[in-house]
Amino acid sequence: MKIKAINGFKDILPDAALRWQHIEQTARDIFERFGMREIRMPILEKTELFSRSIGEATDIVEKEMYSFSDKGITMRPEATASLLRAFIEHGLHVQQPVQRLYTIGPMFRHERPQKGRLRQFHQMDVEIIGATEPQVDAELMAMGQMLLNSLGLKVSLEVNSLGCPDCRPGFRTQLIEYLEERKDDLCEDCRRRLSTNPLRTLDCKSRGCKALVKDAPSILKSLCNACNEHFAEVEHTLGLLGVTYSKNRFMVRGLDYYTRTTFEFITGDLGAQAAVGAGGRYDGLIEQLGGPKLPGIGFAMGMERIALLMEQQVENGIHKPSADIFVAALGAKASEYGCVLVQNLRSLKLKAAMDYSGRSLKAQMKQAGRINSRFTLIIGDNELAEEKAVLRNMQTQEQVDFPLNGTGVEQAQRLADYTESSQG
Ligand code: ATP
Ligand code: MG
Repeated sequence: MKIKAINGFKDILPDAALRWQHIEQTARDIFERFGMREIRMPILEKTELFSRSIGEATDIVEKEMYSFSDKGITMRPEATASLLRAFIEHGLHVQQPVQRLYTIGPMFRHERPQKGRLRQFHQMDVEIIGATEPQVDAELMAMGQMLLNSLGLKVSLEVNSLGCPDCRPGFRTQLIEYLEERKDDLCEDCRRRLSTNPLRTLDCKSRGCKALVKDAPSILKSLCNACNEHFAEVEHTLGLLGVTYSKNRFMVRGLDYYTRTTFEFITGDLGAQAAVGAGGRYDGLIEQLGGPKLPGIGFAMGMERIALLMEQQVENGIHKPSADIFVAALGAKASEYGCVLVQNLRSLKLKAAMDYSGRSLKAQMKQAGRINSRFTLIIGDNELAEEKAVLRNMQTQEQVDFPLNGTGVEQAQRLADYTESSQG
């Protein structure tokens, strides 16, 4: 019996990995333009970190976490809590009052696997800690949009404000009142969380709840003055930066720690998995986790969903890399020579390849084509004795005699110079 991967856990095979590398490199490049620095945290954390930050009555903590119950530890379901834990533990704010950080890596949630929804998935997560200005919120959304656009993706942005501890409780009471009166029409989940997490009903996927909340009170009308002004300034700055967005008062996000600005990058191209990335402000969270009283805002993008969208939206998106030189050696001596030459070419930063099997020239040329090599150097024992080889430009199919002399390194350098100066 073959052993297969666990349901919801997926291999990223080499062709797909090319796309992943491209996504990651594009992200790192853009994040760094915005002054973000990388941080990497462990995958396991104390369970309490997540229950205290994400919230006990959230889907993630209630039913999606991979926890080792006897050890009180959990495989991180998201990055923000871990990142803030590290931030607090190492007192990063002491070095620099505003920290801009990003991290890329796997997250784990026990969900029903489907297209764009896995049990191990990967996020690119960014956080700006220590700044409360609305311009920062807009800047972060602009960065997200720049990233998605740079990848060639068409995704829309939805924005909302969830208020703060001053104004949200009032809204919550209003909403509970509204929902209580219509309790019988709520789905089972929403009825259960009516008292613990009533805001979730606003973005419940069930049709009944969706219809029911259409006329529910709007959080945007319940904001206190400070939150109102903050949100207006976020909108104003988004306008200045040319970021297109729409307001969505039903977006509440599944995590308890959000305050004020929340946003999602969404697509209609991934079925039920509409959110490509999402985030928001969490002004009380750092203090709640035992850290200094500092505001923060961040978002996470799902890499699987981005990769899927790229397959759908970006035509022949990524070019396969090619090798610079393939060495086709015919005979034992030539093979030994080639072996050293390839090593030296690689130390000169060229992508060099060779086949040690001693197959026919035809088979080796085929291999050179398969790996998309720009040049092939054909060496036989006789040619080696005469200190020359044949260099074939795989694109133009032109062949030239190439002198072989000197030690491997010098030879490699001559080859490197030649391939660099010629089109192929
Ligand atoms: P959803 O509503 O799709 O469950 P979410 O609100 O739980 O998403 P977040 O916790 O905000 O998602 O995570 C941010 C991003 O991470 C999502 O927008 C999505 O792209 C990705 N993501 C979340 N859960 C999964 C998963 N199980 N599989 C793949 N990607 C995921
Ligand atoms: Mg979810």
